Amino acid sequence: NAYNEEQAANTQLNELIERFRPYAAEGKCASYIPALANAEPSHLGITVIQPDGTIWRAGNWDVPFTLQSISKVLSFIAVCVARGIPYVLERVDVEPTGDPFNSIVRLEMHKPGRPFNPLINAGAITTASILPGETPAQKLAAIIRLIERLTGKQARVNEDVFQSEWGTAYRNRSLAYYLKETGFLACDVEDAIEVYLKQCAIEVTTEDIAMIGLVLAHDGYHPLQREQLLPKQVVRIAKALMLTCGMYNASGKFAAFVGVPAKSGVSGGIMTAVPPRVRPAGTPCADGCGIGLYGPAIDEVGNSKAGGLLLQHLAEEWDLGIF
Ligand code: GLN
Repeated sequence: NAYNEEQAANTQLNELIERFRPYAAEGKCASYIPALANAEPSHLGITVIQPDGTIWRAGNWDVPFTLQSISKVLSFIAVCVARGIPYVLERVDVEPTGDPFNSIVRLEMHKPGRPFNPLINAGAITTASILPGETPAQKLAAIIRLIERLTGKQARVNEDVFQSEWGTAYRNRSLAYYLKETGFLACDVEDAIEVYLKQCAIEVTTEDIAMIGLVLAHDGYHPLQREQLLPKQVVRIAKALMLTCGMYNASGKFAAFVGVPAKSGVSGGIMTAVPPRVRPAGTPCADGCGIGLYGPAIDEVGNSKAGGLLLQHLAEEWDLGIF
């Protein structure tokens, strides 16, 4: 029966957590944002949510962490909903770069300096600047509202993490000043940085990002709330961006060897949308699912070391890839 199946799945996931947890030792918690260095590197957790409401959880699934770059997907969606896709794409392109997430080099290389995509910092800071509202608080509220709508829970900014990055965000300020000079930044530099760093510091658990992943998997339809919450066209672009740019400069390898839209953050989260497609009968997640992972020890590119390996294993076992 369903209860026994659920127990079996949770047991299987718990075994996998313990099997992949040692790989965390090959990574390190991010330290360029001082507060992130305090995370427990051996933490590893997962939540899987299916469209019928079945939830599997294992390991440190309930440890809170900050969204960091995962927030870039949500600000992109919020801004497209508020301004329309053409307005947004005039200001940020949808091309992968293969560069590190905080790279500055291409902004000057390609005139007139439109950021390559909204999932690198330059594009995300630009996106933050065109969120609806005048003040940083109003702009941030657009993202918070979206997250609360999708998860059904209250969302808040972790002030310590925000302050810790605010005091050290020299590279992000450089990007913002450059974007201001070229005319792509639509608001004050410090205001854009405040919105961007606060959206990065929104606190979640693997369950929250699994739920958001589930809605993205279903093109903006929330299978549990039974309502189309987001425009399909916007969500499809967001998923294409996740697949091509979501795992920073490891996105190509991730697309090749995992094969599902995913977005990572330097705090160690990975939000994954597994779209429905024909899969062998009886396969877990046959009808699509959302997967949230957390493992704060990251690799040199910035992706959760143990989390990435666990996800790759699940993709093979459960035939998750979309290709
Ligand atoms: N707040 C982080 C930064 O701007 C987010 C980066 C990330 O998660 N890759 O550096």
